[in-house]
Amino acid sequence: MFIIKNPYELQCKIKELKLQGKRIGVVPTMGALHEGHLTLVRESKKNNDITIVTIFVNPKQFGPNEDFNSYPRTFESDKNKLEKEGVDFLFYPDINDMYPDGYATSVEVESGIVNKLCGAKRPGHFKGVTTVVSKLFNITLPDNAYFGLKDYQQYLIIRKMVKDLNFPINVVGVPIVREEDGLAMSSRNKYLSDEERKDATLIYKSLLKAKNLIESGEKDAQKIKKTILEILTQSKFSKIDYIEIVDPENLEEVSEINKSVLIAVACFFGKARLIDNIVIKI
Ligand code: AMP
Repeated sequence: MFIIKNPYELQCKIKELKLQGKRIGVVPTMGALHEGHLTLVRESKKNNDITIVTIFVNPKQFGPNEDFNSYPRTFESDKNKLEKEGVDFLFYPDINDMYPDGYATSVEVESGIVNKLCGAKRPGHFKGVTTVVSKLFNITLPDNAYFGLKDYQQYLIIRKMVKDLNFPINVVGVPIVREEDGLAMSSRNKYLSDEERKDATLIYKSLLKAKNLIESGEKDAQKIKKTILEILTQSKFSKIDYIEIVDPENLEEVSEINKSVLIAVACFFGKARLIDNIVIKI
């Protein structure tokens, strides 16, 4: 596995490989890799000749009071995991490689899908994401790019950006990978104490309960949200950020459930802000 820090160097290598007709897959990450990330890597390996994983904790997507400084950084163990998976290139730039002095450009999707859910709670977050992902796309020149559906809104926004800006890239959404007890895998799960970790399983339990109610005929979104709230607040550690039931295409709020919906939850357990979601097909 080649480990490259310099964007220009990686871009040159990938250009050569593309001239040889190689199909390129990229998996953008912030590191602290777990099975969720590795599932994206395996998808890329299956469908491409060359797989690039990027590890970059992007300062532009963190708010001033968020966890940029404490975000887990586990480079050695990440590197070993990626080597085992047979990854071809690991792109691991420093902040100055990505945003040198005088850097002044942003990419922003101006669509209703940006200001809802996490976008409403984390102003500027998705602008940071679309800016860094545009740069990563230009550096890695992928045919296919892999994103997890745990970050469902991010996936929708990136798809929109790719379409609007004519990036010649196929964006692939990969289903959520969970721990055995249902908790969605996340680098931020590392923040949880043992007790918080136990209670965090309430998130997926509440989503499954919601699914069950809807499948039994409940159509009132308020009632479903109330049930989710009741389950999450069984924990003394939980602090709800949002519980939303929305259209999976445009993220508009749904009040009466008579077609497929996305139920999305963001909830703090201690200092860990965890997100999860479920799409219920009707
Ligand atoms: P992150 O390192 O958290 O920015 O995540 C990098 C990529 O991995 C994103 O596309 C995430 O959606 C994806 N990802 C993170 N956790 C999971 C998971 N539990 N299941 C599937 N994909 C995930």
